[in-house]
Order: sequence, then C-alpha cells, then structure tokens
Amino acid sequence: MTDQLPRLQHYIGGQYVAPADGAYFASGNPATLEPLYEAARGSAEDVGRAMRAAHEAFDSPGWSGLSATKRGHLLRRLGDLIGERADDLARYESLDNGKLLREMRGQLAALPEYYYYYAGLADKVQGSQIPTTSLAILNYTQREPLGVVGAITPWNSPLTLTTSKIAPALAAGNTVVVKPSEHTSRTILLLAELATEAGFPDGAFNVVTGFGSEAGAALVSHPLLAKISFTGSTATGARIAAEAASRFIGCTLELGGKSPNIVFEDADVANAAMGVIAGIYAAAGQTCIAGSRVFAHRAVYDELLERVTARANSIRVGDPLADDTELGPLAFADQLEKVDSYVRLGAEEGATVHTGGGRPDVSLPGYFYSPTVLTDVDNSMRVVREEIFGPVAAIMPFEHEDELIGLANDTEYGLAAGVWTQNLARAHRVARRLDAGTIWVNTYRAMSPMSPRQGFKSSGVGIEHGLESMNEYTRLKSIWINTDEGPVADPFVMRG
Ligand code: NAD
Repeated sequence: MTDQLPRLQHYIGGQYVAPADGAYFASGNPATLEPLYEAARGSAEDVGRAMRAAHEAFDSPGWSGLSATKRGHLLRRLGDLIGERADDLARYESLDNGKLLREMRGQLAALPEYYYYYAGLADKVQGSQIPTTSLAILNYTQREPLGVVGAITPWNSPLTLTTSKIAPALAAGNTVVVKPSEHTSRTILLLAELATEAGFPDGAFNVVTGFGSEAGAALVSHPLLAKISFTGSTATGARIAAEAASRFIGCTLELGGKSPNIVFEDADVANAAMGVIAGIYAAAGQTCIAGSRVFAHRAVYDELLERVTARANSIRVGDPLADDTELGPLAFADQLEKVDSYVRLGAEEGATVHTGGGRPDVSLPGYFYSPTVLTDVDNSMRVVREEIFGPVAAIMPFEHEDELIGLANDTEYGLAAGVWTQNLARAHRVARRLDAGTIWVNTYRAMSPMSPRQGFKSSGVGIEHGLESMNEYTRLKSIWINTDEGPVADPFVMRG
C-alpha cells in the first residue's frame, strides 16, 4: 500500500531533493488513520547538504547584497502567496495533526500578517552612535545577521510556530534550515517552495524533514550553525541548550507549560467558564499555553465546575474537517497513550475523574480523547505538576489571593496565565505577581506577532514576536573611529 503514497522530498538550495540514503517514513491522518504520504527521512548527510546550501546563500551577492528594504519586499510577497494558498495550507495542517480545519483556517488568515510585520521591521534594525568620553572617537554600533539559523519546530501549529522563527531570521538577513516535526512535514515544505516563488534566492530557506534524534540532532551539532531556535518540549529543549552552550552558539527556546487559569469570586463566571473551555479544550489541549490548572475561588467553585462540566460534556467531538466539530483527535498514537496514562495516574494519585476520561463516542477510528475534568487534585500530584498536552483540566479551589499566588506560581513552568476578575486593581496586581511571561485578563489564547512573548523558568529562553525578537537573530558590533589625525601621544594608555 505505502509504495503508492506521495513522496515528499527535502527542500534544499531552491529545489526538492531526495534523501541521500533513499529512506522515507510514513505519515498518517490521526482522525481516520489513513496513510497520507511518505516524507524523506533526513540524515546527517542531508542536513550537511542543507547547511552548505544555506551557508553559500548567506555569503552570496543575491542575498548579502540585498538591501534590508528588498528583503522586506520578499517577505511581503511571501505573505501574499501564503494568503493565496491559505485554503490548501490549512487543510494540509488539519489532515496532518488533526486540529480543526476551522482553527487552521483562522491561523492561516492571520499568518500573512506575520510576514507583513517582519517585512516592515527588516529595515528598522538599527545600531546607534555612542558618546564616549573622548571627542576624538566616533563610536557606533551596527546589528548584523548571524549566518545560518536552524529552526526546529513541533507539530501542533507547524506554520505559525515556524514563521515566528524564520520571518525575523530572514528579515534580519540570515538564511535558514528548518527541521519540522516528523508528524507535520508537508506545509513547511510547501512554505519553502512559496519562498522560492516569492523571489528568495536558492538556499535562503531550506527544509530537511525527519526525526529529532536523526535530522534534528545533526542540525543542532552542525559546525556551520550560527544559532538554533527551537519550539518543543522542555526535555528536548534542555538537550538542545546543552549542545548549543558547548559550542557557544545562541539559542531561543519556546518550551512547555502548565499554565494556571484563575477565576476570582468577582469574575463573570459564565465568561470565565468559556475561558476555561478555550484554555484547555481548544486544539484538544495540545497547545503550550493550555490552561491546564484551573483555580476557582471557593465562592464560585461549584458554579464554575458545573458550567465547565456541562460545556465539556456537550463538546462535539469528531471529524476535524467538519465545520461544526469542536474537538478533533490527538495528533498520534503515543500522544493518546500519554494523555490516557496521565488520567489513570491521576486516579491512582487520588483524583476524581469528574467527567471524561477515555474514548468518546465517535465513529472515526482515530486518536480521540474525551474532554476531561479532574477534581480532588492538589499541587503535590504529577497530573498537576507535569504537562499532559491533552484535553485534561485539573480544577482546584482557593480562598485567598495570597494563597492563590503561591499555588499558581508553584510550578517549574512560567509560560502563561489567565485571570478572570472584574476588579481592575486586582487584575493589575495579580498580573504583576504571577510568574509567567504572558498574562491574559478576561481572555485566553490571544496572540499577535507584534506582542513579545517569553517563557519564564522552564518554559523558555529568549523572546519571540515583537520588536525584541529581531535582536535574537542579530549580533551587535561596536565600531571605533579615531577622528584625530595627529600623532599618537602614548601607546600604553587606553583610549575611549
Ligand atoms: P518535541 O520536543 O518532542 O519535538 C519538537 C521538535 O524537536 C520536533 O521537530 C522533533 O523532531 C525535534 N527533536 C526531538 N528530539 C530532538 C533532538 N534530540 N535534537 C533535535 N531535535 C529534536 O515536542 P513536540 O511533542 O513535537 O511538541 C510538543 C511540545 O512543544 C510541548 O511540550 C509544548 O508545550 C511545546 N510547545 C511550546 C510552544 C511555545 O511557544 N512555548 C509552542 C508549541 C509547543
């Protein structure tokens, strides 16, 4: 059967390239379990080829000779092309990872804006003139691209998460080699093809598909790599950071989370319940920012639990391509097993499976899991401490704001937090005290390329999005010009 599947090749030097050793791996649809295609199984040799292509492109006049404004034009054109192919791209992502087609259409509608934003930033990367203590010195700084940037990305929002890395990297004048998740190779290859169509020179944007321990590891350890930008699990991020540190190259890491979604007694509880649903059941909980720890003030705990449970039980589970589906499958078999084993572990730890747990009633054979609520849980349990990455909310009561802050911050993660309150002073106060890089008040899952985000603690290193993200893809050079043409008075004294 599988030899009739379409075969996806690497994208290197502006063209599709077969894997050096001829190896491929199969990728399937997590809702129907039908095979979709085979993708090239990248080896160190393939990565080396992509790195050399990117390195040559970095130095070529076709890229290094382009003005920043022209790089911006290319990014803008790429944004336009993505807009033209948005339907295909959204559908391919939904087929690959099981996320709702509706959601992927929404992501694709927003995606060109990322390219337009970074297109605008390309020629706003500036140095400055520094007034030193000597009038005879002109000192100025300039920001330079780094070289070849590697991007390694997960399967849950492939295009958006890859774009957050490659758009600023290209805007700043780097070239890129992307290793997408082995579960979602297709759209990143198409994106690279669109970049060529947009006018990016061959080798500016390369893709090597394959597994993390093979192509991913080869990319991170390649001697031509100037920087690695990674989104994925905290465990993999730690390995990548260690490798980068051993070679003194920079890394930007966007990692896991166990985010609190907090409902105070003065909240609009109906809206807060919708925020809890959005936080944990959207994308079947497979988002880094999932609001998986729900803290409800004791005064509204029962009402919130009732509302969340009722809505969780009415979620329409099924085909992610159907317009009225609200919850699709998990992305692959191991992911389903992981989520189910966490719920079983929670029960062993003393939690009550208040609703959900196990397979929902759905006709498709894929990796579906019921929207689940755990109660009788506390911060000592692994289901509350560890990232489950599925549709499983742990709901806990609290009584005082100080107690809540302690509970919410008692986690190794610090990615995001939601706060539901109608008290303005409390909103600002609690936002300041929460130990997380993104705080939402009376909303959840809002995101924009213009707004910087940073994972605190084990949730990340460095910044994505916003003006600050450009600094992640540049280095700063300080240039000193002596404007005094007279003789050097004393060569043994430092000048400045
Ligand atoms: P993962 O760490 O298993 O894999 C991520 C990527 O790393 C994949 O492309 C994989 O092939 C590659 N990889 C794996 N081992 C590697 C190695 N040794 N060397 C180099 N590359 C390697 O993560 P995942 O399961 O694909 O994604 C889910 C995780 O991503 C969750 O923890 C989630 O929270 C996190 N995530 C974070 C953000 C964020 O912005 N903070 C966004 C989305 C997902």
